[in-house]
Amino acid sequence: MTFVFSFDHRYENNPMKLKDLLGGKGANLAEMTSVLELPVPPGFTITTDACRAWLVSGWPEGLDREIEHHVAELERRMGLRLGDPGDPLLVSVRSGAKFSMPGMMDTVLDLGLNDRSVEGLADRTDRRFAYDSYRRFLSLFGSVVLGVPRERFEDEIALAKKECGAATDADLPAAVLEQLAARFGEVIEQATGSPFPADPRAQLRLAVEAVFRSWSGARAVAYRTREHIPHDLGTAVNVQVMVYGNRDENSGTGVGFTRNPTTGEAGAYGDFLVNAQGEDVVSGTRTTLPISTLGELFPEIHVELLDIFRRLELHYRDMLDTEFTIERGHLWMLQTRAGKRTGPAALRIAVDMAHDPAIVLTPAEAVSLVRPEHLEQLLHPQLDAKGRAVLTRGLSASPGAAVGQVCFTADDAVRLHRDGKRVILVRSETSPEDVHGMQVAAGILTARGGLVSHAAVVARGWGIPAVVGAEEVLITADGHSFMVGDTMIREGDTISVDGTTGGVFLGEIPVVEASTPPELEQVLAWADDVRRDLNGMQVWTNADTGPDAARARAFGAVGIGLCRTEHMFLGDRLPVVRRMIIASTPDEEMAALAELVEVQRQDFEEIFAAMDGLPVVVRLLDPPLHEFLPRLEEIIQREAEGGLDDETRELFAAARSWHEENPMLGTRGVRLGVLKTGLYAMQTRAVMQAAANCQRAGGHPVAKIMVPLVVTKEEFMLVRGWIDEEISAIQSTLSAPLDVAVGTMIETPRAALRADDIAEVADFFSFGTNDLTQMTFGFSRDDIEGRLMARYLAKGLLVRNPFESIDQRGVGELVRIGVQRGRAVRPGMSIGVCGEHGGDPDSIRFFHDAGLDYVSCSPFRIPVARLAAAHAAIAAT
Ligand code: PEP
Ligand code: MG
Repeated sequence: MTFVFSFDHRYENNPMKLKDLLGGKGANLAEMTSVLELPVPPGFTITTDACRAWLVSGWPEGLDREIEHHVAELERRMGLRLGDPGDPLLVSVRSGAKFSMPGMMDTVLDLGLNDRSVEGLADRTDRRFAYDSYRRFLSLFGSVVLGVPRERFEDEIALAKKECGAATDADLPAAVLEQLAARFGEVIEQATGSPFPADPRAQLRLAVEAVFRSWSGARAVAYRTREHIPHDLGTAVNVQVMVYGNRDENSGTGVGFTRNPTTGEAGAYGDFLVNAQGEDVVSGTRTTLPISTLGELFPEIHVELLDIFRRLELHYRDMLDTEFTIERGHLWMLQTRAGKRTGPAALRIAVDMAHDPAIVLTPAEAVSLVRPEHLEQLLHPQLDAKGRAVLTRGLSASPGAAVGQVCFTADDAVRLHRDGKRVILVRSETSPEDVHGMQVAAGILTARGGLVSHAAVVARGWGIPAVVGAEEVLITADGHSFMVGDTMIREGDTISVDGTTGGVFLGEIPVVEASTPPELEQVLAWADDVRRDLNGMQVWTNADTGPDAARARAFGAVGIGLCRTEHMFLGDRLPVVRRMIIASTPDEEMAALAELVEVQRQDFEEIFAAMDGLPVVVRLLDPPLHEFLPRLEEIIQREAEGGLDDETRELFAAARSWHEENPMLGTRGVRLGVLKTGLYAMQTRAVMQAAANCQRAGGHPVAKIMVPLVVTKEEFMLVRGWIDEEISAIQSTLSAPLDVAVGTMIETPRAALRADDIAEVADFFSFGTNDLTQMTFGFSRDDIEGRLMARYLAKGLLVRNPFESIDQRGVGELVRIGVQRGRAVRPGMSIGVCGEHGGDPDSIRFFHDAGLDYVSCSPFRIPVARLAAAHAAIAAT
């Protein structure tokens, strides 16, 4: 195995293909050097293979020899020797992983200096410069590589400044810098018990090892956890000849973007400083100049740089971010990478580059330049919380930002809303009984609950910003305030919640409203074209009402993949549902069901009308019945208060009898259908009557009836018998038959494993990955997830929250098995997914590869899903 590659290694003219091995920085340096032949200080990359080997079993065999070979080659090219006492070659040692992790790992500059070579550098440059570089090197090497606390060096500098009356580091005279360097040497020797390693080769090996080590540093691990970057990739290390932007007034350094990263406007954009090093530009300690001033100060370099920017864009077909240095009038490119950009900029750049006659991005390329996060920024308001301390954090359950007054009950939310107030509904957790309050809330905050808890699913469906599972939130016993540590937040106090980041803030934080730039439609239209051309997945929606369906269709949904009928059982229908539950005779039950048919039919008519001509998957009732009944705590309290009437007593008795310790594994889904025999027939009748009415009115309803939580073919056949009877009854009254199918959700491991049996009798499948995840992991989707997940992620026990992004190796394996076994029996059967994963870009990619026909997600997620479905199709080519 080769561990080290020179920047000018040609890699068959495509180093970018080797980003895994060379890291982002190394691959781009190689690309600039060997393919574009830009002025890049020479150097070499030690691969991520070497780092991974080091992480497992220490310094890899043969690595020293390879490094030595490449150092010798650098020396030969530069005509200098590393750390030569007369005229030293000096190098930088920088990390560079596959995914950018800005500032998270370590860097060492000016490596090769020691008490003798600093004199050589002084001869070549000047004394002050040489000793300034030396003391910087000693403190960097001392702290980063040898682990000496940084303050030990900073204290010495502060002391030196005080002694000679210097206001800043730049005012320290050469002689003092020389003393400081000597002092730093002593500090290192005192702290480590050995003298500073003067041998440049030993320094190099120690520095490389320190960069490897920094991969596992706390900062880097935390960053990767947040960004979902796997912990086993390792970093590459780039060793490069030093160039100096701080040599003199004919030198400088800058950071330049090839276009404006905020607006996307064409033209170079960035900051620049004369006589400075890179860190002076980024640290903000000196006031930088706009890159355009290069035109006056260094006119030739300005022309050269703009030419390089254009070449980079033509080559990479993207907007780039660069770092460059001018050393005594000579331009050097130190780094390039795809530039980070805002949502509006991403759209504008994609469209402009597609129209640029010299670039002409294809629709697939243009679509690839826009990331799901960019759309997220545009589609939801954002908090501008820069510099504001968070009060607490939870899971980012539904994106967007909201500011409002705290209230603690759904009824209060409704009252305040009626008075024209914006409210944030704060609950320990939410239940279906809270929906009227959730509907009017500007935002939702819960102390418990995970990403597929009731609050999260409902909030996402309605586009209401929500933070759930904010563990630190403790609602006080009187229910009129909550505590976070020592801070008390009372009813009526203003807070701001950011459902995109999970942050909660005290007081009002400015909100940047959502905006849709003109390029959005164009980019989404390209995404649809690309996806269709490449046979990608369709995007359907989860919607339970006519208005939601209409909204989803306007966002571009081409079907409803999940209509959760339980949401139609709430509000003023709750008393009828309760009558059905507590019915003691079949007649009473039938009477209640007959009433429900009426209201459900009206709902379905609205939905079919909104989705005319497109498929609508209606899922028969799923949740455990106790969700429609009073909670045990309430019962206990009311019973203690006494004075209950007969009806309430009857209701409470039913609530006790339906109460289950583990309702998510209990009497719900098809099991409910089996117990309440008239229920699924009633729902099917309502769907069919609605479809028939729509058809009579000239519409083209496409009804798909879906049974939840099926585990055996036999139970599905039982309920399908009742469903088919209702379908036939209605079909026989029509001149043209309705387009109807009956299928099942696959949301238990058994259903996935026995998909072949079930496919014999089911027309279609839809993966309910929320339940499938819950049941595969044995993690509750409702409560422990919030508490547990943060720790699992922080400890690296999981890379992603599996309720947010599909667990490809476990739950995903069940999906693959389900698809394969189902289609083996029923070739070409329609298979989709309607769990919350249907809106997650990484999961969408997985579902594409697993062969699904569509993903179904909340209406507000559709633009993101359309883009991600196109990305998935492109990635698979
Ligand atoms: C699922 O389990 O993934 C699903 C879509 O159903 P629900 O979330 O309603 O249980
Ligand atoms: Mg489910």
